Amino acid sequence: MVQVNGNYLKLKAGYLFPEIGRRVKAFSEANPTAPIIRLGIGDVTEPLPEACRTAMKGAIDEMGTREGFHGYGPEQGYPWLREAIAKADFQSRGCAVSAEEIFVSDGSKCDSSNILDILGEGNRIAVTDPVYPVYVDSNVMAGRTGDADDAGQYGGLTYLPITASNGFIAPLPEGKVDLIYLCFPNNPTGAVATKAQLKQWVDYALANDALILFDAAYEAFIQDPELPHSIYEIDGARQCAIEFRSFSKNAGFTGTRCALTVVPKGLMGTAANGEKVELWALWNRRQCTKFNGVSYIVQRGAEAVYSAAGQAQVKALVSFYMENAAIIRQELKAAGLTVYGGEQAPYVWIQTPEGQDSWGFFDHLLGNAHVVGTPGSGFGAAGEGYFRLSAFNSRANVEEAMRRIRSL
Ligand SMILES: *Cc1c(COP(=O)(O)O)cnc(C)c1O
Repeated sequence: MVQVNGNYLKLKAGYLFPEIGRRVKAFSEANPTAPIIRLGIGDVTEPLPEACRTAMKGAIDEMGTREGFHGYGPEQGYPWLREAIAKADFQSRGCAVSAEEIFVSDGSKCDSSNILDILGEGNRIAVTDPVYPVYVDSNVMAGRTGDADDAGQYGGLTYLPITASNGFIAPLPEGKVDLIYLCFPNNPTGAVATKAQLKQWVDYALANDALILFDAAYEAFIQDPELPHSIYEIDGARQCAIEFRSFSKNAGFTGTRCALTVVPKGLMGTAANGEKVELWALWNRRQCTKFNGVSYIVQRGAEAVYSAAGQAQVKALVSFYMENAAIIRQELKAAGLTVYGGEQAPYVWIQTPEGQDSWGFFDHLLGNAHVVGTPGSGFGAAGEGYFRLSAFNSRANVEEAMRRIRSL
């Protein structure tokens, strides 16, 4: 019989989203008329911006002509999209990122997992706790960890707890690590790093020859003009960081699929024989071998994000969700809860009330307010005692959910 990848068997089974689904299903079977509002899973709810739809319709019509037909495109993305991204997302903020360093893809989830293809087996890896589960599980699947312990923590990983006491900004590791996952604005805590805080990480990485994988999927939600959107706003980051970005959350592309990864030229890793190797060349080779690019139609849709109309529409979308976040913060505070996040990110991170753990608070909200959120413990052991509500929903649902929570 064929052998399976035993690393998959190390994954903690039946956790978080399946468990939420199970509890919601059991509740709605017992209470079929209870109107449930889901503020749990981090998916957007508002329609695609008109500029993107118009561009994609135009691209479909082009594809219907012999002259306008596009077959396989460049694996790295079309030059016009890479140019638009480099200019608007990076150069306009003073980051020296060129179009050639941008790899267009069908998602940051895949890129942040696939990047392990070009990284060695012996790296010491640091993740925050709580964390976006993809970073951990992709390392488990790739055989870069040991087994999970009773707390769900995998052998070989360095967990950096982020809690209210450190403002949800990960402390630097005590010893030396080689690979660090950072996500700002953060999913799930909604925290964001200042330039000074990011600089500490860049300095650590440079001093320790480490690589930072920087997930900026939520950069569009930053409201404070002083805060960095890209790690390349920090001097030295080109020598130690790869950045992931996505059109999923800013432009509502979660179902349309387009993202990008920045691999700076001159960013090096080490081969087993000590030789220095350029990561750009390895990632380029990986993409050319295993990936055939994002559809022409979708790339035209993503390009439209950078048009004047697209910029205005994306800004309005983000503002809409951030108003939801403000309502959630305000109402939960009025209900006597301690809340974090929700100011530079679409997630509000709630401290569960005395005597209730994350799942206890989940059951309480589901049972009494028919509101579904996400237990913090599902994102890691240090998430225990916290709970995530997402601002991705209609205004009516957010207001109704808050009304119910306040009247508990
Ligand atoms: C939603 C999200 C992404 C985006 O993933 P896509 O695959 O591009 O949709 C990336 N990172 C984090 C932390 C996210 O929450």
